[in-house]
Amino acid sequence: MRIGVLALQGAFIEHERRVAELGATPFEIRERRDLEAPFDGLILPGGESTVQGKLLRELGLFEPVREKIVAGLPTFGTCAGLILLAKAIKDDPTVHFGVLDVTVERNSYGRQLGSFHADAPLMNGPVIPLSFIRAPKITALGDKVETLVVLNGTPVAVRQDNVIAAAFHPELDADTNLHRLFLSRCD
Ligand code: GLN
Repeated sequence: MRIGVLALQGAFIEHERRVAELGATPFEIRERRDLEAPFDGLILPGGESTVQGKLLRELGLFEPVREKIVAGLPTFGTCAGLILLAKAIKDDPTVHFGVLDVTVERNSYGRQLGSFHADAPLMNGPVIPLSFIRAPKITALGDKVETLVVLNGTPVAVRQDNVIAAAFHPELDADTNLHRLFLSRCD
């Protein structure tokens, strides 16, 4: 199983390691020709969504990647990846892929709490570690969006059709549940 990891900026190597540990084959997406061979899933890592969005467009990756997501490619976005997937960004007219029916507020856990750690159950199942780094907050979500993890009443991981997104960084903790959930949909 081949999993493309967007590798323009941010924490892509950690996702690649996790995917490899779980028995799939990661490869890096840096330019258009990286999209030529077929693959089974896509990861959009954390980092800086503005920079990633700009590079995606400059490198001609934006449209072909968006087409693949819209066509149903299983996709997993974390942190900045969630922002790229969201239909709306609060107080910002920018929309990137716009395929996930949520509104996010960037850097919304405040400066003091810019980075923090918590734990919460994944879908009434195992309690998983949650590492937040200047994370976006999901402030609204549409009817078709299923909540996977809630922290203090706020959804922090969600799923809609082929798209899973988390406000935190599962690739930075040892727990593999969320990656396994994603990989189970890529075959
Ligand atoms: N603050 C970043 C942004 O707005 C996201 C942070 C992250 O991915 N760790 O793009």
